Amino acid sequence: MKTDIQIAQEAQMSHIRDVAASVGIQEDDLEFYGKHKAKLSNELWDKVKDNPDGKLVLVTAINPTPAGEGKTTTTVGLGEAFARMDKKAMIALREPSLGPCFGIKGGAAGGGYAQVVPMEDLNLHFTGDFHAITSANNLLAAMLDNHIQQGNALQIDPRQIVWKRCLDMNDRALRNIVVGLGSKMDGMVREDHFVITVASEIMAILCLADDLADLRVRLGKIIVGYNFAGEPVTADQLNATGAMAALLKDAIKPNLIQTLEHTPALVHGGPFANIAHGCNSVRATKMALKLCDIAITEAGFGADLGAEKFMDIKCRMAGLKPDAVVLVATVRALKYNGGVPKNELGAENLDALKKGIVNLEKHIENIQKYDVPVVVTLNSFVTDTDAENDYIRRFCEERGCEFALSEVWEKGGEGGIELAEKVLDTLENKTSHYHPLYEDSKSLKEKIEIIAKEIYGARGVVYEPAAQKQIAKIEEMGFSEFPVCMAKNQYSLSDDAKKLGRPTDFDIHIREVYVSAGAGFVVALTGAVMTMPGLPKVPAANNIDVDGEGKITGLF
Ligand code: ADP
Ligand code: MG
Repeated sequence: MKTDIQIAQEAQMSHIRDVAASVGIQEDDLEFYGKHKAKLSNELWDKVKDNPDGKLVLVTAINPTPAGEGKTTTTVGLGEAFARMDKKAMIALREPSLGPCFGIKGGAAGGGYAQVVPMEDLNLHFTGDFHAITSANNLLAAMLDNHIQQGNALQIDPRQIVWKRCLDMNDRALRNIVVGLGSKMDGMVREDHFVITVASEIMAILCLADDLADLRVRLGKIIVGYNFAGEPVTADQLNATGAMAALLKDAIKPNLIQTLEHTPALVHGGPFANIAHGCNSVRATKMALKLCDIAITEAGFGADLGAEKFMDIKCRMAGLKPDAVVLVATVRALKYNGGVPKNELGAENLDALKKGIVNLEKHIENIQKYDVPVVVTLNSFVTDTDAENDYIRRFCEERGCEFALSEVWEKGGEGGIELAEKVLDTLENKTSHYHPLYEDSKSLKEKIEIIAKEIYGARGVVYEPAAQKQIAKIEEMGFSEFPVCMAKNQYSLSDDAKKLGRPTDFDIHIREVYVSAGAGFVVALTGAVMTMPGLPKVPAANNIDVDGEGKITGLF
């Protein structure tokens, strides 16, 4: 069997000019990064912004197993299938981070015959967006420390600095550091921290901003820390906003690449799906809606995190209205949720499947709470059996839910026709009455409780004393209208990663709450959340190499 990178390297890519032309984009509106990547100009938006919107399809999934269950693969394959059916469709995806690429997960360009290319470029540096975000983030950090060094006119309390430096790398040694060691001229000594670039608030801001002007306003509102009186200090007060925005002027433009079958794909931005909202940029999604009849996009992790945030944060803020949701499940993940260990997922096990399918059931119910039609798709693995597939199909149909088997990993767009037909039928015959789960006017605690009870199925919410105080302070600061961004493990509907399936009788524990004032949401942390991952004992990087001609191997 060929690896993802072998399949990607055998692809005959079209010139990106031709891919763009297939959705009516002229060469003039492309900013080329070689022959196979381009950014879309700001002028293009002005030309298309009054076009009617196409239909918006979100791809999400049940709770993932440690392997990743194929949301990107499905998104790409569905786009390819629509293209085969002569539908004008476009894909919008997140940009991968270097951290997981060298860590355990490998690349993130889809898989098998449903990938976007050039996959090496996408996974390594791409068009430099992450570099720009890292630079803007660290400029703010440098200006903050310099402000303190130069007399600290804003009276910033070094013990209450919340802005962290960032790097797009899994590097645990940078989680907790001391800066400013040395002489008087080497800065003020203080404890500092690094997060991975995708966890920077600037990544979330870039992905939620309407345009460069909105980006600039949001950057200015970033809270870097608090002064000795406990009042917030912002990037605007440090006069850092303009320079940060200047660093991001190209990063805000969506990137265009293609699938293995030349379907256009916008790949832009990639915020974490725990401490941030986990979706590609609003700019890319809106652009796809204006250029095509169908825009297919993906949200990170399972539907309890990714889809909830897509609906309650991204769509709410950007005024988007999803028309259908594709909920990806795999036989493997359902069996895992039914208690089967990772190394035994290849064997047929209908009992475990029956036990684990309650996870799918809960996610179906959850999507229905937003009044958006849902299509369940089974991302087919070669080890799945007919009996297992039939069981899941019947389960869905008994619940009035559309179902389609997807074989896009093995067959590309051809393997996604059944799914594309079901989605098309849903778009044509069912109406979305999308609404967010809660109103802006609810208190922060009410919002947290609604998400915990309605989406996770929790009994209640328990707050640590520190979190209680933080919520009171955030409301006093005037941010109670913000949506809540829940940071929770992705494996369980609960805040305990080991409780698989559809757990009941559990509480959600809120440990810490803080505001991302520029992004425009309040983050509620349940348990410890990793914002600077580490590398595993045998990192994926051990197996990556490049030959004398620049051909890369080992990138999955
Ligand atoms: P997600 O977006 O949910 O994290 P991806 O689509 O990136 O998942 O897929 C994760 C990995 O699983 C990729 O390496 C991909 O090649 C592999 N994969 C996805 N679908 C299948 C499948 N049907 N059979 C085998 N491997 C698959
Ligand atoms: Mg993905």
